[in-house]
Amino acid sequence: MGKGSKDKRDIYYRKAKEHGWRARSAYKLLQIDEKYDILEGVSKAVDLCAAPGSWSQVLSRRLYLKQKITVSPRYDLDDSNDNQEDDDGDEDEKIEPDENVKIVAVDLQPMAPLPGVIQLQGDITKLSTAQEIIKQFEGDFADLVVCDGAPDVTGLHCIDIYIQGQLILAALHIACNVLGKEGTFVAKIFRGKDNDLLHNQFLTIFKEVYIFKPSSSRNSSIEAFIVAKKYNPPEGFDPKLMTPFLNVGERNFDQLTGINRIIIPFMVCGDMSAYDSDVTYPLQLEGEEEPYTYHEPVQKPIDPPYAGMKNMPQPKPVSDDSPEMEVLAKPGTSTKS
Ligand code: SAM
Repeated sequence: MGKGSKDKRDIYYRKAKEHGWRARSAYKLLQIDEKYDILEGVSKAVDLCAAPGSWSQVLSRRLYLKQKITVSPRYDLDDSNDNQEDDDGDEDEKIEPDENVKIVAVDLQPMAPLPGVIQLQGDITKLSTAQEIIKQFEGDFADLVVCDGAPDVTGLHCIDIYIQGQLILAALHIACNVLGKEGTFVAKIFRGKDNDLLHNQFLTIFKEVYIFKPSSSRNSSIEAFIVAKKYNPPEGFDPKLMTPFLNVGERNFDQLTGINRIIIPFMVCGDMSAYDSDVTYPLQLEGEEEPYTYHEPVQKPIDPPYAGMKNMPQPKPVSDDSPEMEVLAKPGTSTKS
């Protein structure tokens, strides 16, 4: 394959290299911001699952280095983005970094340094990593938490979605612990049948929730992004108690009260006074005086679809003393006498 062939096939890959982004994913965050203004007024941000670091670069350039970035690279326009280069410390242009800005980036993998970005290496599903991130804010709040986390896909769709769900849950747990009121949370999701549910669950703690697929995200990929704005937890909600980190190993829900313990009522009609629909009872029930007699169903189907299948092999009629499993007649023979 020629050197330029991937550049030709993937405009975002090519533009990312031209403009010094570590990955084409930078454009996803830029397009999310273009649509929802998520970087507006942000001075404290967390980038979860950050390596190799293109989202952190966006945060570093926009928030810390205060650079203007033109967003979507358009194939038919000339490069108006040419000022977006070399943020890794050796650029010529004069930079006046905003020292009030705090950006914390976390990944399992190590990441090359970036200006104004505090880097942590760890697993975001671990309590110790969550605590380390929370510690960085010293009791202060973040305005934005983003998570572009993706597991190594197995190809087994349900397992991949499950693991992705664990990453979203862990990221949300961290977000709920560091976000200030009205803060924003963005996370990669896999599009699936439960997205409506996810959207509604997020609406319980954020005022605005969107699911967005930037044009830099390939159509063939099942990824999309949940964009949750205006963090607004219910009164008394204590995210420290939120699963998956709740009493690791012990799961003691008794300590949860009020808004932190919502139990959805589910009435089971399961006392011993009625027959259990899952139990096989003897034909002659205890206490019944009349001997068991077979009754035909009250109303048989009038025109069942199987009625036309006269030539199909029929099962032997089951009599009381038949063994439980009836052997079907061989194809082409009839068991009818
Ligand atoms: N946003 C990044 C960028 O722009 O460069 C790309 C992120 S990449 C698609 C997904 C990252 O998720 C990988 O670097 C991977 O190491 C990280 N990751 C996956 N599971 C993780 C976990 N449990 N904790 C921390 N990072 C994780």
